[in-house]
Amino acid sequence: SVALALFTADLRLHDNPVLRAALSGADEVVPLFVLDEGVRAAGFDAPNRRAFLADCLADLDAGLRERGGRLVVREGDAVAETARVAAEAGARDIHVAGGVSGYALRREERLREELEGQGHRLRVHDAVVTALPPGAVTPQGRDHFAVFTPYFRRWEREGQRSVMGAPRVVRVPEGVRSARVPARSGVKGASPGVAKGGESEGRRRFTAWRKGPLNAYEDRHDDLAGDATSRLSPHLHFGTLSPVELVHRARSAGGAGAEAFVRQLAWRDFHHQVLAARPASSHEDYRGHRDDWRGDGEEADAWREGRTGYPVVDAAMRQLRHEGWMHNRGRLLAASFLTKTLYVDWRVGARHFLELLVDGDVANNQLNWQWVAGTGTDTRPNRVLNPLSQARRFDPDGTYVRRWVPELAGVEGSAVHQPWKLPAERREKLDYPEPLVDLADGLARFRRARGLD
Ligand code: FAD
Repeated sequence: SVALALFTADLRLHDNPVLRAALSGADEVVPLFVLDEGVRAAGFDAPNRRAFLADCLADLDAGLRERGGRLVVREGDAVAETARVAAEAGARDIHVAGGVSGYALRREERLREELEGQGHRLRVHDAVVTALPPGAVTPQGRDHFAVFTPYFRRWEREGQRSVMGAPRVVRVPEGVRSARVPARSGVKGASPGVAKGGESEGRRRFTAWRKGPLNAYEDRHDDLAGDATSRLSPHLHFGTLSPVELVHRARSAGGAGAEAFVRQLAWRDFHHQVLAARPASSHEDYRGHRDDWRGDGEEADAWREGRTGYPVVDAAMRQLRHEGWMHNRGRLLAASFLTKTLYVDWRVGARHFLELLVDGDVANNQLNWQWVAGTGTDTRPNRVLNPLSQARRFDPDGTYVRRWVPELAGVEGSAVHQPWKLPAERREKLDYPEPLVDLADGLARFRRARGLD
């Protein structure tokens, strides 16, 4: 018999319940990935993610070939193509990971309707994209947790399913047509520093990180220049690494660093369960409704370009443009600057991040933006991060700023955080803008808008 494994956000051979179930129920399996025109139509196929995705698909195909199989790639509507391949291959069961975003949930519904109408069976598998599926733990009388700490307590107690190895052999039926596996070199417009994708690279990166830096993660995760976080977010986004496996392997390493890292993985699950329960929070305020935001315009342009005149904000924004990735502390302070100091709508910022982030995903991006903007799940929605104090704490000697803002590369030490205080002569020689807004004015505007005075 033949089964079909439809890859979505689980582009891996190790610890993949979708592939495992397909292989255990059939003699031959079609490993399918559809370059989905729906994702393109939604404007979600940003070049940086397309570049990383190309690496992931090439690596998946190579891994399958080592096992006697290959990856089948199609282009078009994910549902129509899956149905077509299922019919061509004579597959009875179609296996797929349970979705979380509104888009993935609608795709699942459409798949069920279309496939079951044609006599196939759709099998949906949980704990593939997240370590704990949305809805697995809920507070009494509610469909999701709105606060992280109690969620985390339950999440920890729940424990994870056991880890599955990679299959040894994958037999793919003859005669199933495949488009060419896309190559990264064919992607136009990606940022120069986009990391390499693919399961092999993800596993290599995690293993190296687990051996050393993981230990110091708790102490160093906020150090902007130290760059001591795992940088696994794009791998988690595309599912080249399994979150369940990461939890197990981090815990087996033990220590405070591992516990802090596992807590971050729980944050990822937390945002996914919010989005699954409230799909509209991708574009509407999760809590309350504000209509007094300032819109897109010149100030937002300066922010996007990394020319706000606040060096640490600009460094973060330029890292994003160069690498398609930004340090979490940078994301926090850059987002706070846009939404609280400039009082610009969080959706303007979230859209820009999604255009560039390799790890950009609806759950983590939109709900972190809402968290920072104070419309989401932060229990202190009116906190404002002051870019200067953030810079002094998390980039004390200015190394991060000098790395990303070349105009300021010659300014020594922490003086780099306040170029406006340099002697006039020196200041004039720097091609670097004056602060876009006075911090005290920004704060006063924010407090007025929120009725805090
Ligand atoms: P590590 O510190 O090594 O953490 C390990 C993993 O835990 C990460 O890879 C990630 O999967 C998860 N994680 C860590 N922090 C968070 C968090 N706050 N929320 C959810 N998951 C987390 N993360 C994304 O994956 N995609 C996004 O689109 C995204 N947008 C963000 C937007 C804003 C405004 C903010 C403040 C944060 C956003 N984050 C997003 C969360 C976080 O910044 C990144 O996951 C993290 O910086 C990735 O780097 P890392 O892999 O080295 O993280």
